[in-house]
Parts: sequence; structure tokens; C-alpha cells
Amino acid sequence: MAERVEILILGSGEAGKLLAWDMARSGRRTAVVERRWIGGSCPNVNCLPSKNEIWSAKVAHLVHHAAEFGMRTGRVATDMATVRQRKREMVEAQIAAHLQKYKESGAELIMGAGRFVAPKTLEVRLNDGGTRVLTGDRVFLNVGTHAAIPSVPGLEAARPLTNIEALELDYLPPHLIVLGGGYVGLELGQAYRRFGSRVTVVEHGPQLMGREDPDVSDEMQRILGDEDLRCVVGAETPHVHGRSGKEVTLVVRTSAGEQRIEGSDILVATGRTPNTAGIGLEEAGVELDARGYIRVNERLETSAPDVWAMGECAGSPQFTHVSHDDFRIIRDNLAGAQRSTRDRLVPYCMFTDPQLAHVGLSERDAQRRGVTARVARLPMSAVLRAQTIGETRGFMKALVGASDDRILGFTMIGPEAGEVVAVMQTAMLADLPYWRLRDAVIAHPTMAEALDPLLANVPRRGDRS
Ligand SMILES: Cc1cc2nc3c(=O)[nH]c(=O)nc-3n(C[C@H](O)[C@H](O)[C@H](O)COP(=O)(O)OP(=O)(O)OC[C@H]3O[C@@H](n4cnc5c(N)ncnc54)[C@H](O)[C@@H]3O)c2cc1C
Repeated sequence: MAERVEILILGSGEAGKLLAWDMARSGRRTAVVERRWIGGSCPNVNCLPSKNEIWSAKVAHLVHHAAEFGMRTGRVATDMATVRQRKREMVEAQIAAHLQKYKESGAELIMGAGRFVAPKTLEVRLNDGGTRVLTGDRVFLNVGTHAAIPSVPGLEAARPLTNIEALELDYLPPHLIVLGGGYVGLELGQAYRRFGSRVTVVEHGPQLMGREDPDVSDEMQRILGDEDLRCVVGAETPHVHGRSGKEVTLVVRTSAGEQRIEGSDILVATGRTPNTAGIGLEEAGVELDARGYIRVNERLETSAPDVWAMGECAGSPQFTHVSHDDFRIIRDNLAGAQRSTRDRLVPYCMFTDPQLAHVGLSERDAQRRGVTARVARLPMSAVLRAQTIGETRGFMKALVGASDDRILGFTMIGPEAGEVVAVMQTAMLADLPYWRLRDAVIAHPTMAEALDPLLANVPRRGDRS
């Protein structure tokens, strides 16, 4: 006999746990099935631990450059065991805070691997042994994704690191090879470079950060190159030999010919695969798309009645703040609202140093959609706040409508870009004409203050660049 609950959630990611707490607090009998990470990937193995170690890497960078700021230091060395311990303590505190929320809300957290055996019915192989079968009046899927391992001969046998293992190293790889020039590869690659590893990033596509405008990608590559992070782009990887953690050799083919890259460790950061295989979704009547993501409509409803999917497994943009918004959409719709995922303005920030943040349209997006825009630029070297802290690399770029004064998009490579992007996003949400922000009185000297000279560079109507 299956145990019956009103709300049954598979996977305790950002959306899953928030929905569980919300539903349980409102008195519904709620159970969450989670196989490993209490609170999901973000606090355990993805966002927060990576930003924690990236901050240690920033300290390493500052200490190495202390003399430029008038500080004398002695010999500097990285102690990865302490870097890891600091991160582990933060994660442990997160787990404790999550357990407290489960307790306070009354949602039951069941630790085990769930699999559908019938519509809206899960069999859970409990981590402590035994099984339970649960059926939910309403079922929610938030099973996330895992690191994809591309099918390169020898790669799997090399036992590559993913973000999970890379954030658990207690030693410094002498030469870390990073496969993938997206945000995970660049954030971790730069961090390890700053800790003292040699780092080579190998990217299959023609540029780093494949979706960014070419000027953005070029600037980031230049900045990383200044820190001696080697990037090989447009690279095919026919073979990998050896074993990560010992010796690993990558054979790489580019337009310049074939080369061998000899490293000590290899990190794979080439994208994500949804955790939707082998969990009986066919038994549940839940359809997948061609890439294995759960097919949902704009209200995050799946093909099965009373079954929803949210977060990365539903094909939502791969950020915690989007999974968070998926939760809000479902919560509000269950209460009678008509919210959808359509036209969400989704910002993002890559936590390299300097950060790369973006919201709205890029020049490439605008071109693709046939949107004509006026483009304004400002180098960070012109920003007074950037001058005070000596971090003048990067630029700001804004897109404004050609025939109206709406802000269409914003990109920044620079210190605190992730904070400045929220200012532009707010103006976009409020539909402010760009000149309202240009003429605003913003505190001096801050990074956001530079939005005034940036927007003063918007070409007059009829004059596009
Ligand atoms: C290295 C790295 C850094 C990142 N940094 C950022 C960042 O700075 N900012 C940002 O916004 N995003 C970042 N992301 C992305 C972000 O972590 C995710 O988008 C976010 O965690 C949302 O995930 P989710 O809600 O879809 O699911 P997840 O949090 O992945 O949760 C899914 C849960 O389901 C569980 N599960 C799966 N299958 C089963 C099963 N069969 N039975 C039981 N449980 C199951 C898993 O154990 C997991 O806990 C980063 C990603 C990576 C890889």
C-alpha cells in the first residue's frame, strides 16, 4: 500500500525545498524525496561552495599583489586543506539551516532515491536501507542536472574532476586542464590559477563564453590571459590519456595543427545533463524533450495531470534565481494566479574577477531578432571607483531602442558587475527611459555611478553607434 501525501516532491533543489516549506506551512501533508544534497546543489556543490573558494582565490590574488597597495608581506603559499575546510564549514552551516527549516515547516524530508512506479507514485530506495512507496495528490519534479562528460576517447577512463570534486581538492594541481570555456570552467580555472596551479582552458567553440558578444568574450580572454591562464579555443579533442590526479595528456586539434597538452589533473565543465534517466518518468506519463529535459508548458505543467517540473530539469535557464522563480510561479498558480515563465527578465553573473554580468538583449541577440538598437560603451578605466581600487579592466555596454528610449540590455565586465546589473534590471522592469537613469543622482564614488557617463554615450536617435 502506498502512503498518501497531498504534496510529493522529488528532488530538493531551490524550487523543491521552497515549495515543500511553503506547502507544509500552509497545513498540507508534504513529503520531499532527496537522494544526497540537503538543500540541493546550490548550497552543497555548486553556487555557494564555488563562490566561497573563489573568494579565497581573490584573497590569494590580493596578497600576491600586496606590494602594489603598499603592503609588505613575506613568502605566500596556498593551503588548499584550509581553503576546503573554510568551504566545508559554510556548507555544514547551510545544511543545518536547511534541516531546521524542514523541522519548523513540518515538511517530511525522506533521504533516498526516488523512482516512479505508477502515475504520481514513487518508490523510494531509502539511504538507510529499505523502501517506501508514496503517492501524491500533486507531484513536483526538481531533480536538477549533473555534469556532462563528453564522449572523448580516454576521457572517462581518466576519471576527470567535475565541479564537485574540484571543490573538494586538498592539494594544488600542478597543471589543471579545464575542458570547457563556459562560466563553470572559467570561474574555477581562474581560481586555481590564483591559488598557484598552471591552468589551460580548452574550448571546443570558436570563443570562450559561446553565447556572449565577441567583444565581451575577447575582453574576458585578454583579462584571463594577463593572469597567465592559457586558453585554447576552436579545439577538437580527439584523445585523452592518463589519469586525473597523476598525469593526463590531452591531444588537441585546432586550425593551427595538433598539439599535446600535458597536465596533472583534468576538470570537465562542458555542460549539464538532466537527471531524468532511469527514474520511471514513462510510468508516470511525463514526457521528455529531445535533450532529455522534462517537457513543460509556460505554467511548468508536465504532460501528466497534477505533475509539475521546475528548475534545471524542466529546461529552465540554469541559475538558482530561476529555479527560485519557478517555485514562485507554481506557488502563485496553485493559489489561483495566472503566472507564466514567458518574458522573464533573467540576469546572470559569472563570478570571475572581474565579474561578467548581463541582462536583457546582447548585440548578438538584437541582430538575430532583427531589433535595431543604439549601443553605448564605457571602458572601466574611465570609472572613478574602479580607479580607486586599481581594477580598471573591462567595460560596460548598454543597448537602447533605436526609436524609443527603452533600455534593452546591459553587459558589464568589471568589479561588482553582479550588483550594477541589478540597477539596470530595475530600470528595465520599471520601463524607465534611459535618460531617467542617466540623470539620476547616484552616490559617488560607486560603480553604479558610472551608469551616468555610460548612458550619456547613447547615440542620438537616428545615429546607431
Ligand atoms: C559549479 C557551479 C556553479 C554554479 N554557480 C551558480 C551561481 O553562482 N549562480 C546561479 O544562479 N547558479 C549557479 N549554478 C547553477 C545552479 O546551481 C542551479 O541552477 C541551481 O542549483 C538550481 O538547481 P535546481 O533547482 O534545478 O536543482 P538542484 O539544486 O540541482 O536539485 C536537484 C536535487 O534533486 C536530487 N535528485 C535528483 N534525482 C533524484 C532522485 N531520483 N531521487 C531523489 N533525489 C534526486 C539531487 O540530489 C539534487 O539535490 C552553478 C552550477 C554549477 C555546476
